[in-house]
Order: sequence, then C-alpha cells, then structure tokens
Amino acid sequence: MNTEFILRAAEAVYQALLTHESEIESLDRAIGDGDHFINMKRGCATIVGMREELAALAPDAALQKIGMKLLSTIGGASGPLIGSFFMSMAKAVKEEGAETLPEIAIAFAAGVEAIKARGKADVGEKTMLDVLIPVSQTFTRLADEGYGRAELLEVLKREAQQGMQSTRDMIATKGRAAFLGERAIGHIDPGAKSSQVIICTVCDLALANP
Ligand code: ADP
Ligand code: MG
Repeated sequence: MNTEFILRAAEAVYQALLTHESEIESLDRAIGDGDHFINMKRGCATIVGMREELAALAPDAALQKIGMKLLSTIGGASGPLIGSFFMSMAKAVKEEGAETLPEIAIAFAAGVEAIKARGKADVGEKTMLDVLIPVSQTFTRLADEGYGRAELLEVLKREAQQGMQSTRDMIATKGRAAFLGERAIGHIDPGAKSSQVIICTVCDLALANP
C-alpha cells in the first residue's frame, strides 16, 4: 500500500459517498440526526483537497495526517472514531510496514481496535463496528491462510455487505439510535452503511489495480 493508492482511494470513496448520498442521509434521519452524510462528505472533501501535501509523505505519515485532519473535520460521534482509526493504522504501518496482505490486515485491525476502544462498543450494538469487526477478522484470517488477493478482496466485500445488513434488525446500544429502543429496528445503521460503501470502494479499487 503506497501513498498514491491512499490518495486514489480517498477520491474514489468521495465519489462513492456522493453516489449514496440520499441513502446514507435518510438512514441517519431515521435513527440519528441526519448529519452523517454531510459529516463524511466534509471529511472526504478535505482529504481530497490535501492531495499535494499528502503525496510527498510516506504512507504512515500520510495516514497519520489524514487521521488528525478527520478528527477535526468530520465532527459528530463518528469524527473522533474515524480519526483514531487512521492514527492507529498509521502507527501499525510505521511499525510493521504495509507491503503484504498480512501487514495491511494488521494495520486495519489496529484501526478497528482503536474505534472499539474509543467508542466503548463491540459487535451487535448497531454501529459501524458491525461492518468493521467482521471485515477485520476475516481479513486477518484469510491473509494468514495465504488467500489470493482477488479472492480475499471479494470475500471482504461480501462480509461488509452482510455486516451492514445485520444492523437492520438490531436494537442500538450506542450512539443516538440507542435513545430509540425498539423503534430503531428495521433501519440499517448509517455508520454501518457508509463503512460498507467505503470498504467495497477500496476493495474495488484494489481489484482494478492488481
Ligand atoms: P452523530 O451520531 O454524532 O450525529 P454521525 O451521524 O456522524 O454522528 O455518526 C453516527 C454513526 O456513528 C452511527 O451510525 C454509528 O455507526 C457510529 N457510532 C456512534 N456511536 C458509536 C460508538 N460508541 N462506537 C462505534 N460507532 C459509533
Ligand atoms: Mg448523525
């Protein structure tokens, strides 16, 4: 994973989020306060606008800078969570590298652990973690088992879809949706949806660039 891939991923994610604007916005309007799409769009646009200063950096330094910037630009509950994801990922990339699939899986897992710790949440609470945790666990397992890159990426996309869908019938125990109790049932979590869109977009980009 080099810095150029990170920058291209940021641009692809920005476009993908715009494509899913109405869906993400209406999900947060249903069980949150309606700002999740705007928060994510603002964060993404900021990173895309930093292309020049980021391009000169090594991947770990670029991820660290992205994390710090997202912490202050996304806002809401998700800003600090996503910011800490990138900063923890940066630390792992600095220590372990990000050349091989197992190394990238370690970095992704470090990012997800940071969200768990900061959000004090786990799987089954109707949040973005219902996508991120199963994707991370599968990523680590398949990378360790030596799966081929294309097959692994396809499995991760399916895992993200399943995780996102799994939030539909959950009661939320974290975030704004927790105030709704059973009324949140039947709605997909907005953070799970945006996480699925992001993961599928980055996997598609990697699949298109073997
Ligand atoms: P806010 O809830 O402050 O309006 P956003 O709308 O940007 O912030 O983000 C909401 C999303 O954040 C939720 O859909 C959920 O996925 C995620 N989220 C909220 N609280 C937590 C938490 N404690 N742990 C993990 N994810 C969380
Ligand atoms: Mg919101």
